Amino acid sequence: MGKDTGFMEYSQKKSYDRPPGERIKDFNLFHLLLDEEDRRVQGARCMDCGIPFCQSEPGCPIDNLIPEWNDLIYHGLWREALDRLHATNNFPEVTGLVCPAPCEGACCLGIIDPPVTIKDNEYAIVHRGFEEGWIKPKPPQKRTGKKVAVIGSGPAGLAAADQLNKVGHYVTVYERADRIGGLMMYGIPNMKLDKKILQRRVDLMAAEGVEFITNAHVGVNVDINTVREESNAIVLACGSTRPRDLPVPGRELKGVHFAMPFLHANTKSLLDSGLENGEYISAMDKHVIVIGGGDTGNDCIGTSMRHGCKSLVNFELLPQPPDERAPDNPWPLYPRIYRVDYGHEEVDHVFGKDPREFSISTKEFVGDGDGNVKAAHTVRIEWEKDDSGRFQMKEIPGSEEEWPADLVLLAMGFLGPDETLIEQLGLETDERSNMKAEYGRFATSVEGVFAAGDCRRGQSLVVWGIAEGRGAAHAVDKYLMGFSSLPIPGVMLGELLSAAD
Ligand SMILES: Cc1cc2nc3c(=O)[nH]c(=O)nc-3n(C[C@H](O)[C@H](O)[C@H](O)COP(=O)(O)OP(=O)(O)OC[C@H]3O[C@@H](n4cnc5c(N)ncnc54)[C@H](O)[C@@H]3O)c2cc1C
Ligand code: SF4
Repeated sequence: MGKDTGFMEYSQKKSYDRPPGERIKDFNLFHLLLDEEDRRVQGARCMDCGIPFCQSEPGCPIDNLIPEWNDLIYHGLWREALDRLHATNNFPEVTGLVCPAPCEGACCLGIIDPPVTIKDNEYAIVHRGFEEGWIKPKPPQKRTGKKVAVIGSGPAGLAAADQLNKVGHYVTVYERADRIGGLMMYGIPNMKLDKKILQRRVDLMAAEGVEFITNAHVGVNVDINTVREESNAIVLACGSTRPRDLPVPGRELKGVHFAMPFLHANTKSLLDSGLENGEYISAMDKHVIVIGGGDTGNDCIGTSMRHGCKSLVNFELLPQPPDERAPDNPWPLYPRIYRVDYGHEEVDHVFGKDPREFSISTKEFVGDGDGNVKAAHTVRIEWEKDDSGRFQMKEIPGSEEEWPADLVLLAMGFLGPDETLIEQLGLETDERSNMKAEYGRFATSVEGVFAAGDCRRGQSLVVWGIAEGRGAAHAVDKYLMGFSSLPIPGVMLGELLSAAD
């Protein structure tokens, strides 16, 4: 522990974001770092708890060695901190920017005070590592001669590829998009995760020997049977890509889109041409309605604000969360509380009001007579418990409203992976239509085929993608070699040994 009394002496100080009025003028990263002395002090707030709840679930899903690197930061030992961080996390420069930080929700200091700034500390360590040139390609010294195909290049696929390459297998990553990164590339917008940061890691992996093939849609323009014949094992990391629809009258009108085509096209146009080619859905001068919250909804808000929309509202079916933890959501669980994300803050700054409307249901979209959406009709709802104690939605009579709309973005979650490869491989699925494979083993119902990430667990988080990719790499390595020294996050040594049948 760096400083015994650090947590009593120092207050929490988070990294800064660029002011909303400035940052909405561009798509550049808005997160800024603290200086070194401030960061040292933030590291000193860590109490090095006997049981570091932050470090494993319900804290960090990849078992980041948080108290160790907080202590190393305090002592100015940045390179050592970087080594400890890379021991558990393949992409800390991504989680350090976009993770919702369940670690901070589980931090013991959080019981009495604002928690340690774990996520900011993580980003500062890896940022320093790149600045100093400490992070260099380290190809494996020996190759096993085994070949692994990874299908999908999101955090799950990339973490699996990185781990498997490190232990000497030849890894080829197939990605149907034209750039590598999955939702880290074409979901999360540039201002939250600068694509240069992501590409830097992809380039590093390529220099270490991972082969990347883009525009390769396995099951469509690349034959899955050929991939199987050429590989000793396959990791499916295809994500959860089927969006939930809103089947109300007027859904077919022009201007009503799923969130992903909006976000994907924006980032592609930004990277291809700085938005000069116009090949994206513009929110400029439009009344925008975003339906659904979460990261996807918020990213649609932030993107629309940067286009220069005329107005913006965000509909949420659920009621507004409480400001403090509810009794059924105690520490160290992730706090389900009311938060103001970057997009909400930007709308508030420009239009003087948080965009969110809670407990509201969309009944229909209305057209302008030429097939374009013109308005949305809604009704307010109440949530009441029925006799069995389950919450039921009830419409409030007389609460109908009409909202102007030129662009409607549907961000209501995802229902599971695309079915093409499931059908072609004859994979078993679970009751939620995800690829069936037990956590810890990751083996699907088909010999030599493993599944990881959102296609296995359903829509989730980058940090869970990394956890799953690392775990699947262990399972594949063991399948190929009979034994693996690679870790499975969240699985203790005893469980690993008992699973070693
Ligand atoms: C808009 C948005 C914002 C988000 N923001 C955050 C955030 O801020 N923080 C956070 O932690 N999480 C966030 N998430 C969630 C997070 O991005 C996902 O949970 C995570 O990326 C899932 O990782 P994955 O590797 O399983 O799949 P994905 O990242 O979805 O990657 C799957 C990849 O597989 C490719 N693919 C699919 N089928 C094939 C095929 N047959 N052949 C070749 N390639 C194929 C897809 O093109 C895709 O690139 C966000 C999600 C969205 C949609
Ligand atoms: S990856 Fe996420 S949960 Fe883990 S230490 Fe970093 S911010 Fe916390």
